[in-house]
Amino acid sequence: MEKEYYVCTGCGLLCEDIETELEKRAISKVYTACRVGVAHMKENPGTAKFWVEGKNTDEATAIGKAAALLKAAKNPLIFGLDNSTNEAQKKAIELAKKLNATLDDSSSFSFGPLMAALLQKKFKTCSLDEVRDKADVSVFWGADPSDSHPRQLSKFAYFPRGKEKQRGWEEERTAIAIDIRKTHTAKICGNEFYQVPLGGDAEFMEALIAGLSGKLPKTSYKYPPKKLLELANLLKAAKFGVIFIGQDLLYSLETLAPLFRLMDTLNEKAKGDFFLIPLLEAYNMRGFNENLFEETGFVNRVKFEAGSVKHGPEYSVVESLKAKAVDAALIIGSDPLANLPYSIIKELLEIPLITIDPCETLTSKKAQVSIRSGVSGVEAGGSALRIDGVRVAFKPVFESKCPSDEEILFKIMEAF
Ligand code: SF4
Repeated sequence: MEKEYYVCTGCGLLCEDIETELEKRAISKVYTACRVGVAHMKENPGTAKFWVEGKNTDEATAIGKAAALLKAAKNPLIFGLDNSTNEAQKKAIELAKKLNATLDDSSSFSFGPLMAALLQKKFKTCSLDEVRDKADVSVFWGADPSDSHPRQLSKFAYFPRGKEKQRGWEEERTAIAIDIRKTHTAKICGNEFYQVPLGGDAEFMEALIAGLSGKLPKTSYKYPPKKLLELANLLKAAKFGVIFIGQDLLYSLETLAPLFRLMDTLNEKAKGDFFLIPLLEAYNMRGFNENLFEETGFVNRVKFEAGSVKHGPEYSVVESLKAKAVDAALIIGSDPLANLPYSIIKELLEIPLITIDPCETLTSKKAQVSIRSGVSGVEAGGSALRIDGVRVAFKPVFESKCPSDEEILFKIMEAF
């Protein structure tokens, strides 16, 4: 019998080579996935759950109540969707338009500006398959894929044999980590670990630009110029270089300008081309950003109004809650009560709250309406965009009684 392969939605790599064994409508064994993926795929009870005001109810009651709360709101907020399929994201955009809602996701306080620049083609990017086949230098900056994307180094960036990299990491690849601490990834990089002080990344970039341009690299924190020059020379010699950007780097930079200047300098001075790939953690943040960009020209922080769209910081989840501008919230696959500061979440607790999530979260426990949806790739099919923008389609491992995010959103819209 031909083997069946499934897709893991445990992180933005969307590994497509997963094998499973089933026992009594639950996954008992997972092969090929990393430890994160195994845990993600196994923890799915497969039972649908609907709550209204903390009490178990049926689907029709929960959907009806959710629709009524949203309809009664003048400016509802729809937030989350980075862990939903493309199809659900498109449905949520449709719903936001219908409701004249504010729509935002977690990229609002992380990868948003970088994703906007990427979609506006402000720097060179490439696919992970090209990295596997061609890259001789991979830089992990403020990123620790060994923990966040555990198969990234073995499948793409460092260990595999690629079409043009048959001798692999032993002879043909160099992995470099630049970080504030010695992460698991930095340990793999050995001597090519460059530790920067907290908030010191922008200065490190400027010093590196100086080193690449034949000047003496200097930082106010006195990073050894010799080590910086060694790094500059290593990067200069790259035939196909890629920088993987992690969330920690984005938190450290006030603007992306030094990063773009570094990319321009690398592409001017290095032997080959340099590319940049954001190391997005949620499995379909890229999908949300691209789907919304396609529809509105923006990657997040939008407000729909009578056929037009507004965009700006005031439409971010944080600012719209702070300003008490939204009067109901639909949270999909996200747990803001666990992640945002108290000054913000207290505003969320003041308005009607609806959640759609495969997991029971702090936010779902406080919601007036909470609907358990199926886990993508395990209980629900669809498609998503890998961190490099490659579209990956997936089917469920088993038939579940849990509706998908897309089905729930469709039913809410039908109930208006
Ligand atoms: S690397 Fe990511 S997508 Fe691949 S198996 Fe691990 S968690 Fe799943």
